[in-house]
Amino acid sequence: MANSECSSSGARSFYKKKFDGSLCYCKKRTSSAKAWRDENQSRRFWCCDSHGFVDWIDKEEKNEWKKQSLLDARGVMDRQREEIRNLKQLVRTTSQQVKTEDSTALLLEEGDRIVEEKKKLETALITSVEKEKLLRQFLGLFWGVFVVIIVIMVVGILKK
Ligand SMILES: [Zn+2]
Repeated sequence: MANSECSSSGARSFYKKKFDGSLCYCKKRTSSAKAWRDENQSRRFWCCDSHGFVDWIDKEEKNEWKKQSLLDARGVMDRQREEIRNLKQLVRTTSQQVKTEDSTALLLEEGDRIVEEKKKLETALITSVEKEKLLRQFLGLFWGVFVVIIVIMVVGILKK
C-alpha cells in the first residue's frame, strides 16, 4: 500500500524544508510527501529520494489525517486570505500616500508661487521707495530753488 513515487506529490517541495524527517534505512534524510492513491489520498509520509516510501507521517485513523489534511488546507486558505487582505490594505495605503504626495507637490508649488509673489512685492516696494526718495530730492531741490528765487526777488525789491 506504500506509495513509492515521492515526486508524484506536488506538496512535497512545499513541506520539504519544514519536515525533514526520519532517516531511511539507507541513512538518507527523508522528506515529507503526500500519497495520492485513493485509499490513502493526501495521507502524508516520509519519502526517501532513492527508495520512496519510508514511513507514514499521518499514523492516525484514516479520517483523522484526512481531517488534518483539510485543516491544513483551510490553514493555507486562511493565510492566503490574510495575505490578500494585507495586500489590499497596502494598495489602499500606497494610493493614499500617492494622494498625499500630490497635495504636497501642490503645496510646494503654491509655496513657490507665494515666494515669487513676495519677491515681486519687494521689488515694487524698493522701486516705490526709490521713487519717493527721488521725489523728496526733487521737492528739496524745488524748495531750494524757490527760496533762492524769493530771496533774489526780495533783495531786488529792497534795492529799489
Ligand atoms: Zn533510502
